[in-house]
Amino acid sequence: MKVMEVKKELQVSAIENGTAIDHIPANKLFDVINVLGLDKLSNNTVTFGMNLKSQKQGRKAIIKIWDKFLKDSEINKLAIVAPDAKINIIKDYEVVEKKLVQIPDKVEGIVKCMNPMCITNHEYVKTKFTVVNKSPIILKCHYCEKMTEEKNIVVT
Ligand SMILES: [Zn+2]
Repeated sequence: MKVMEVKKELQVSAIENGTAIDHIPANKLFDVINVLGLDKLSNNTVTFGMNLKSQKQGRKAIIKIWDKFLKDSEINKLAIVAPDAKINIIKDYEVVEKKLVQIPDKVEGIVKCMNPMCITNHEYVKTKFTVVNKSPIILKCHYCEKMTEEKNIVVT
């Protein structure tokens, strides 16, 4: 193992038990925190690193959540804002499992419909989309049938 790799492994696994989310685009860090409700966790320590150098992505962010293991449904929410994120499950300071995020076929309540006339932007109706394309992500609104593209995604 090269020195750089050892260093990287330490950087990611420096929590005892929990989840490290790696390869988040730096500008999506707060969307990820929002989507996963990390600001509402009361018993878990959450740490993050922002603007870390990444060979693949330019600048990236990492989030580490102590003593929490994300459910697949939570990981899939993450997919909408950070489709290239990598999930590391850590036990006793070791990465015991790596998971890739998977973009779900349906998205409910995470993203705003970009159509200003849509009912979801005027009444208390939870948004609902069908994922019609996964890379780049294109969402079709269940109510108004307008498309919301990845570059226009706004997290509710
Ligand atoms: Zn709509």
